[in-house]
Amino acid sequence: MTRTTADVTFLRGYNQALVLAVGRTVRTFERSTVVDATGLTPQAVSKVIARLAADGLIRPAGVRRLGIGKPAVVYELVPDSRYAIGAHVARRTLRLVLVDLAGTVRHSTVNPLPGDFTPEHLLDALRVGVDAITAGDDLRGRLTGVGLGMIGPLDHANGLVRDAHGLRQWHDVPLRELAEAHLGLPVHLDKDVTAGITAEAWRHGATFGDAALIMVESGIGGGFWLGGAAHRGAHTNAGEFGHTVVDLDGPRCVCGRHGCLEVVHLGAAEAGDVARAARVLAVGVVNLLQTLDLAHVVLAGADLLRHAEDYRAAVERAVRTDVPRADWLTPTVTLSGLGADVIAAGAAMQVLDQLYGIPDLTLGAPPTIARRTSLRTAGA
Ligand SMILES: [Zn+2]
Repeated sequence: MTRTTADVTFLRGYNQALVLAVGRTVRTFERSTVVDATGLTPQAVSKVIARLAADGLIRPAGVRRLGIGKPAVVYELVPDSRYAIGAHVARRTLRLVLVDLAGTVRHSTVNPLPGDFTPEHLLDALRVGVDAITAGDDLRGRLTGVGLGMIGPLDHANGLVRDAHGLRQWHDVPLRELAEAHLGLPVHLDKDVTAGITAEAWRHGATFGDAALIMVESGIGGGFWLGGAAHRGAHTNAGEFGHTVVDLDGPRCVCGRHGCLEVVHLGAAEAGDVARAARVLAVGVVNLLQTLDLAHVVLAGADLLRHAEDYRAAVERAVRTDVPRADWLTPTVTLSGLGADVIAAGAAMQVLDQLYGIPDLTLGAPPTIARRTSLRTAGA
């Protein structure tokens, strides 16, 4: 592909994504709504609307008459025009969800995985689960792919799981490639926590600034949304938040170091001391705030949700009392609105985002940024 062709393709996808982003955030819209929200020209918006309607992603939903002149056609997103399946691969369970183009979870199942499961165990469980979901509905032509949110460490860029903590059979496994061959569908592989924070960003839209998703589920991880995009780091392995040390003389952790947040938290949790476990996590969250200055902290994970209110209250208290000048620096602290589905749903949204999201710019980026960039590149 020549550079110019690539640019045109990029722009077409970009403008399409802007219109779809509007469609996801409002119930109905018309051409002028999109022009106002995106800064694209009316002619450009008409072209995109025609293409999206032809592809079945949006449809007319009536007309609006305002004084004299031609009535305006009102459109709406067609949520069931495209779907993605999302998987949350945890140490003991595989959760699968079906998510539509609007980001709604339409179907959710969870099945046990064998202890210390192998790549073959997982691939078979994925195929059985995906078959079960697609057997119920005729999704042909509408299923865009499968997103996997998996325990790390992993290399998102190359689709490799690298010695996942607590899983002995997972040394540099090319899971993305294996799953694509096994399922016959495009596969997106990411860390569980990064998938989770993507789901939160989709739900919050433009108001979602710098944020972290803290997950407590047979380990502790952190997913980051920084500067309006998922933050994966130089080797795409960001998020090993549980393996930051909080006690130099603490017990030995699975990662080989001593006194990691994860192992100190585990000690309190195994002793049944929920208050102390929550307090340990809160110390870690404050360390993170001091490092990154976040606007939102979202709490998630099965082990945390079992004592959701204890954890939420402990973190809320710590961010108000342990951060110097908390009057100025306090973030919001919430429990994930998607509950146990957050990782799987986020993995599915990443698939939809790759196809219909805004390339190289972020979902949730303020329209003014999108407008300036698109006007300049479009030369409109
Ligand atoms: Zn560790």
